[in-house]
Amino acid sequence: MALSNPKVRIYVAGHRGLVGSAIVRRLEREGFTNILTATRDQLDLRDQAAVNDWFRANRPEYVFLVAGTVGGIWANTTRPAEFIYDNMMIHATVVHAAHRFDVGKLLYLGSSCIYPRNCPQPMKEAYLLGGPLEPTNEPYAIAKIAGIKLCQAYRRQYGSSFISAIPTNLYGPNDNFDLESSHVLPALIRKFHEARIAGRNEVIVWGSGSPRRELLHVDDLADACLFVMRNWDEEDHINVGTGEDLSIRELAEKIRDIVHPPARLVWDTTKPDGMPRKLLDVTRLHDLGWRHSTGLEEGIASTYRWFLEHHAGTAG
Ligand code: GDP
Repeated sequence: MALSNPKVRIYVAGHRGLVGSAIVRRLEREGFTNILTATRDQLDLRDQAAVNDWFRANRPEYVFLVAGTVGGIWANTTRPAEFIYDNMMIHATVVHAAHRFDVGKLLYLGSSCIYPRNCPQPMKEAYLLGGPLEPTNEPYAIAKIAGIKLCQAYRRQYGSSFISAIPTNLYGPNDNFDLESSHVLPALIRKFHEARIAGRNEVIVWGSGSPRRELLHVDDLADACLFVMRNWDEEDHINVGTGEDLSIRELAEKIRDIVHPPARLVWDTTKPDGMPRKLLDVTRLHDLGWRHSTGLEEGIASTYRWFLEHHAGTAG
């Protein structure tokens, strides 16, 4: 069945996460009625036998493989074993089961940390494996690169229609706002919010403020995922981003201006900076005809509203 038939069976692996939940919202909005999901308790994606049983019983025709253990710079630095083991296993079991149980098309989502630490900017798809990785997230990046190579290998050996997309740094509803394990944007929303509630005018921001990041709203990513599922069927991966970046200092100032304008930024330089810059070259995606639509200020403001509705009781 084509991805236009509302009855087509679509499995979203990782439906509770930032990305998976956005894809489910998007599929529901398009009217799909057979969206398949399984919680962690129902299905351990690291267990090949369990994953095989699930695919045998549910027979998805399309798979969005967006499950994994994810986190910000501190979680990656302190929990490297979980980041490499969980992700390598999850990617392998789902890709293998998708092959065994004749999935029509699978989209695997990587991460922009797969590119070398000193990659020329903006980072083209062809720069993969052109140099050493950023040490703070190397175990995660190695697992993510293995996922791309899995899709390519199954395509080469079995002719599987498995594709990979590489999103830039993401944010939006259902993001992780835990200060130890989150990424920078939700962490700073929370920090400025808590300072505002407590009447404090200083907020601690990690690193030097000079690294640059590109940020994409997850609803735009979900839109792009459906777009590439419909319009891309190549061995090569495809970058998904906005094509624009800003420094962590500029990002922190934007979040401050929206959440708590009087606050002053205090830089904790004992925390790592990570990759100096991670701007994707999105020419390939733009040439196919896709562009993002959510501006960064608008995205921060709506994510802050979401945070207020869902975390107000736990944050300050
Ligand atoms: P990365 O893109 O993989 O490096 O992940 P992050 O989103 O966790 O971090 C991006 C940059 O933001 C790094 O340079 C961090 O040091 C910086 N940063 C500043 N304040 C924070 C914070 O409160 N939490 C996080 N996670 N990063 C922060």
